[in-house]
Parts: sequence; structure tokens; C-alpha cells
Amino acid sequence: MDLFEYQGKQYFAKFGIPVSPGDIADTVDEAVAVADRIGYPVVVKAQVQVGGRGKAGGVKLASDVAEVKLHASSILGLDIKGHIVGRLWIECASDISKEYYASFTLDRAEKAHLCMLSAKGGVDIEQVVEEDPDAIARLYINPLDGVNADDLAKLVDQAGIDEEAKAGVVEILEKLYHCYIDGDADLVEINPLILTPAGKVHALDAKVTLDDDAAFRHPEWNEFSLTQEGDARELLAREKGLNYVGLDGSVGIIANGAGLAMSTLDVVNQVGGTAANFLDCGGGADADLLADALEVINSDAKVRAILINIFGGIVRCDEVAKGVLIAIDRVGLTTPIVIRLDGTNAPLAREILAPHISDRIIMEETMIGAARRAAEIANKGSK
Ligand code: GDP
Ligand code: MN
Repeated sequence: MDLFEYQGKQYFAKFGIPVSPGDIADTVDEAVAVADRIGYPVVVKAQVQVGGRGKAGGVKLASDVAEVKLHASSILGLDIKGHIVGRLWIECASDISKEYYASFTLDRAEKAHLCMLSAKGGVDIEQVVEEDPDAIARLYINPLDGVNADDLAKLVDQAGIDEEAKAGVVEILEKLYHCYIDGDADLVEINPLILTPAGKVHALDAKVTLDDDAAFRHPEWNEFSLTQEGDARELLAREKGLNYVGLDGSVGIIANGAGLAMSTLDVVNQVGGTAANFLDCGGGADADLLADALEVINSDAKVRAILINIFGGIVRCDEVAKGVLIAIDRVGLTTPIVIRLDGTNAPLAREILAPHISDRIIMEETMIGAARRAAEIANKGSK
């Protein structure tokens, strides 16, 4: 999960990395209120999950109320590479002597964490990477050893960081490493990391990608999930802890296990249907989870038929059958459901469903048969 800059900065602050004080604003009036509170000059910054905001006109300095109004109204609603700005971050403006670049990420090929540091940070970092790759110093870190101050001091020398900034940069790198490790991030990046005329080093931008597989130990990430950009169906699914990818077709698909879900997509295509989504309800799906899955799929207006394809290994088919009935009750499901169940407790599942079989709840013996039925119904467009 990628964080917005303001969330990345909140995250940095938790690990003691200095950032500028500021607040979010969703309207011009809110922007003015924040600026009045934190004091001028301020920077008005577009909050979108895409780089290059500065160059796209999404980062502007404002020295008084009139300028905040001007910039806030021009940036709100701005289209930055297909992302429409709906939120601003207003922070106290900094004076800049130098702009550096710093990041930690995982280098899978090297089986190590990688710290990159450059004295040539700022909005042209991509160009630096292309034209002057040596300007980016690299340090590989054995995850078992972690970082040590000596290696960081060498890295700072190698990157050509100014003398007066060295101690500050090393200190921030140590904190950034902890943010990366203890904060369960896949990437933490500061560009620019600035040196001020007063000799202070601090983070002016924040890019943080959290490791979704670590979400179970971070209930506080919930707040970040809720503000994620993107598909409403995917947001609902994420809230419910489902592994869901929205697609454009008309057959909603629920399967257990990523492999079976992928094959189901293929089979639906093969018989002339189009998949509305990918949804793997996992190895241990119970009735409630299945009902959640049906609810998410039902929220998609394009879905004309739902195909449930379950091979019961760990998951028990009778639980799936109960889930279908719970969901029909709970969400008032009216979309036809085609069910193919096999494996653990399949006969019991058929017994549970038997009294409910109708033209809305259909059982099929085989995967291809079920896919054919679902595609047929979806293509007819009857709901
Ligand atoms: P990005 O373009 O999306 O990476 O957005 P950044 O947050 O990195 O801002 C882009 C550029 O705006 C920075 O590299 C700075 O040069 C400039 N900038 C951002 N904040 C300030 C500030 O507080 N003061 C000044 N003088 N410039 C700033
Ligand atoms: Mn930046």
C-alpha cells in the first residue's frame, strides 16, 4: 500500500524523522485556515499518489492569504498524470540550501536491503539516475546485521554530502532504516532531504510503501487503507480483508486459492464470458467471509451472474453453502449464482442448498459447465 505524502510524513515523525509542521485541507477555506494557524510562508502541496507533482504545478509556495487561495484553488481538481487532486497538504515553507535524495528498499537480487543516497536530489532525480549514475551512492545491508554508523558515514562521504550536513544525514538515515524495518515498509524515500541555511537537515517529501503482508500487526494502518485511491469495490474488499481485483466484465467470480481463481477466469473467458473480478477467498473461507465476498461482488452494477467455484480442501463446502444462504439474506442478493463445489463435505453442501435451488441459485457439476451457465446468464443480461 502506497501512502500519501502527508501520511508518509506522519509515519516518518513516529520514528523521529524531522518533517515540517502542517495539516491537510480539502477545500480552499480549509487551506487558508491551516496556513493562518501554522504561519506564513507555506507550501501548498497536491496529495496524489504519483511522483513529479512539483513539475506538474502541484507544489506552490504561498506567502500570504491571497496566494494560498490562488494556489489552493488551482491545485484542487488538478489532473496530475490521471490523478485528480482532492486533498492538499499545507506545511510551513522551508529555506533550502541543498536538496539530497535518500531511500531504503529491498534488493531481492542481492538478498539485501539497499540504501541509496545522493547529493543531487530534487525534482530531477530521474535524470541524475540516467545521466550521472555515479552520483547515487549505494549501500547493501545484510538484514541480519542492520545498519551501522561507520558504513553510513562512508556512504555519506561517497555520496558527496556537504560537510555541515553529514551528521544530520547519518542520523536521519538511521531513523529512516528503523522506519523501514520496524515500520514494515517495502520502500521509504525522501526526495528532497534538505539542508537549510541554518544547517538543519530534514525531510521535505515522503514516499512510503507499506508491506501489505505485515498489515495484520498494524491495526493503525486501517486509517491509511480507508484513504486509498482507487476502485470502490477494491476498497470495500480491503476493508473486509479479501484478496480482490476489479475487472470490467459481467461474471462475478469467487474461488478459493489464487490458482483456482485464475483458472476460473480463464475458463469463463474460454466459454465466451467476461470476468468482473478476481477474488480469492483463501484457504480457510467460512460462511461469513463468503457472504462478505458476495456482498463486494454484488456492489458491482456490471455483474449479471456470479460464479462460485470452490474446491474444498481446508475450506469446507458446507460452510460455503451456508455462506451463500447468509449472503442472500444479508445483502438481499438477487443476482443469479452458479455454484460448483467439490471436495470436503460437498455432498453435505448439496443437501444444504437443495431446497433453495431455483433459477437464481444454480448448481453445476463441473467447472466448465458452471462457467458456461454463468456466462450464458451474464451475456443475456437478465438480472
Ligand atoms: P514532487 O515533485 O512530487 O517530488 O514534490 P516535492 O514535495 O518533492 O516538491 C517538489 C519541489 O518543490 C522540491 O524539490 C522543492 O524544490 C520544492 N519545495 C517543496 N517544499 C518546499 C519548501 O518548503 N520550500 C521551498 N523553497 N521549496 C520547496
Ligand atoms: Mn519529491
